[in-house]
Amino acid sequence: MMIYADNAATTKVSRAAIEAMIPCLEEQYGNPSSLYSLGQRAKEILEEARAKIAAAIGAEPAEITFTSGGSEADNQAIRSAAMIGKKKGKTHIISTAFEHHAVLHTLAALEKEGFTYTLLDVHEDGLVRPEELEAAIRDDTCLVTIMYANNEIGTIQPIAELGAICKKHSILFHTDAVQAVGHLPINVKEQNIDMLSSSAHKYHGPKGIGFLYARKGIRLTNLIEGGAQERGKRAGTENVAEVAAMAAALEEAVANMDRNAAHMSALRDKIIKGLSEIPHSALNGDAVKRLPGNINFCFEGIEGESLLLLLDDRGICASSGSACTSGSLDPSHVLLAIGRVHDVAHGSLRLSIGDDITEEQADYIIKNVREVVEYLRSFSPVWRDLMSGKTQFIL
Ligand SMILES: *Cc1c(COP(=O)(O)O)cnc(C)c1O
Repeated sequence: MMIYADNAATTKVSRAAIEAMIPCLEEQYGNPSSLYSLGQRAKEILEEARAKIAAAIGAEPAEITFTSGGSEADNQAIRSAAMIGKKKGKTHIISTAFEHHAVLHTLAALEKEGFTYTLLDVHEDGLVRPEELEAAIRDDTCLVTIMYANNEIGTIQPIAELGAICKKHSILFHTDAVQAVGHLPINVKEQNIDMLSSSAHKYHGPKGIGFLYARKGIRLTNLIEGGAQERGKRAGTENVAEVAAMAAALEEAVANMDRNAAHMSALRDKIIKGLSEIPHSALNGDAVKRLPGNINFCFEGIEGESLLLLLDDRGICASSGSACTSGSLDPSHVLLAIGRVHDVAHGSLRLSIGDDITEEQADYIIKNVREVVEYLRSFSPVWRDLMSGKTQFIL
């Protein structure tokens, strides 16, 4: 059996997305900037895709800029808001401690350029408190950037409420919605979202393509100098095939959203229940306000890395921490942000199931995670010390 349970890292490209790409590669290969009809047909494909994507989040087509993915969209959104703020003498940004590194590292870079930022606490349940956002707002705050749903622990923030607070204070509100687009219903106008980042490969589109929504009137700063593509805001010949694939993938994800979410969340809850029976284990993040496919646990007395390797032997692809941090020995900043201590954070497991998960696969995951955790504990010195009372259990 092979179970792909790492959909938060990336997803399999859907048939619809592949089929949308092929004609762009084989026949409609013109440059959208060319005036002859082959080029103009490519331009049409691009604009049809833009309209579909805009409709999927309640935006206008002119508010969508194509990017190379979620990281670029995050960088561009935050830098743009920072530049707008700076012109008005406002250089303070509010975010959270468990954002994706595309956000956190951009904030760190801006700090070197004279900006300051406040990171809100996400508490034990992985959720921001709207009143704490309101309290953190200063006269010089120019931007609030808070992720829609967390990529590691899956918690979903009260976005509309946070957006309303920003609107009340006339502060730009950006959300990294990479884990949410195609999985949760989004309407940027109703939710008071000024800017939103998305990436196709998190909803069965290809890697290396994404988009940034920026409300009409928000002046984007271009990160790449060059031609006048994307209204001068993102230079470089457009990736027509991948844009078409992204639109097809998103259209399909939105059409099946309710059904997929119901199916996945039922099996998510079954797996959570099954893994909760492992002694000295704990679910990370709120049990209800979480993505339909996200399961994230800490198991005391083991190393996440060993757990992943043994699960791989049994055909289960999972992750420990985020794909970006694995390979480093530092525990996940997300788990530390929700208050897990270092030792416990090391023993974490993220399973992000897909919409094709079956009941049988869910049972297989529960059985194998239980067995592997028990096996690893059987020769773990850390576990032995815990069992003998030499050190104290935390979970
Ligand atoms: C995957 C991810 C990103 C980065 O997107 P890329 O397209 O891989 O650059 C940013 N934010 C979140 C929350 C993600 O899950």
